[in-house]
Amino acid sequence: MKDIVSKTILTSAKGQLDDYTHSLNPYAGCAFGCKYCYVRQLPVSLYREEEWGTWVDIKTNAAQILKKDLIKARKKGPVYIFMSSSTDPYQPLEAKTQLTRSLLETMLEETPDFLFVQTRSPLVKRDIDLFKKFGGKIRISMTIETDKEEIRKAFSPSAPPIQARMAALREITEAGIPTQATIAPLLPCSREFPKKLKNLASRVVLDDFWMGDGSGGRRTERMGVYEIYQQMGMEKWFNPTAYKVVLKMLQEELGEIGISKEGFKPDIK
Ligand code: SF4
Repeated sequence: MKDIVSKTILTSAKGQLDDYTHSLNPYAGCAFGCKYCYVRQLPVSLYREEEWGTWVDIKTNAAQILKKDLIKARKKGPVYIFMSSSTDPYQPLEAKTQLTRSLLETMLEETPDFLFVQTRSPLVKRDIDLFKKFGGKIRISMTIETDKEEIRKAFSPSAPPIQARMAALREITEAGIPTQATIAPLLPCSREFPKKLKNLASRVVLDDFWMGDGSGGRRTERMGVYEIYQQMGMEKWFNPTAYKVVLKMLQEELGEIGISKEGFKPDIK
């Protein structure tokens, strides 16, 4: 864990995120260390001696530079922000640093046209009071890749339990804030999964390694994710068509389901 000083905090959004104008990462590194995390293969992780999941840098001056970056970006057109693309903005550390909270406060002074918050941490519910002030120009997305805790533990043992994520998401939805249950990347799940998602969020989005890793699944293979499926005897699930079975179950129970990049689009009114 260390403090770093950044020159800019808003980064141009590219590739899978190009429906957004910018991404915003309050931290570098991530304590959740998911085994399928594509950031493991990016320079931020590759050029670091410590293993992904064991380090977090705190961008201490993020709030000061965000206002300046926002003013500059808004002069060029609408600003749609994805927070975050290469970390989780609600790191365990965030409970103490309140860095992400300070960014939300800054964004309420210089409000972007849309803010998408992507997390898998129940800590996000702490900021319900601020989310309400965005007047609908926000969506809070909670990753729920599976409903099975033993599967979650196999792929992301340091990430928060599924039940706690579901409870936090329900609380945010009930507070009247636009939300999203994000099944991404889809992991082996039970037949009851669609029922458990009912009334949990304003929308549900499904993605898998082949549609969503930005390389047609090659990046995921390089990370040894298939070996985890093998160890669990669940090889059948590691398949580019497996999502179709789950999609059908979800549609029967929940109606419309967003798919991959299309599902993640910003809400532009
Ligand atoms: S929470 Fe997100 S950024 Fe962190 S390790 Fe998992 S996938 Fe990567």
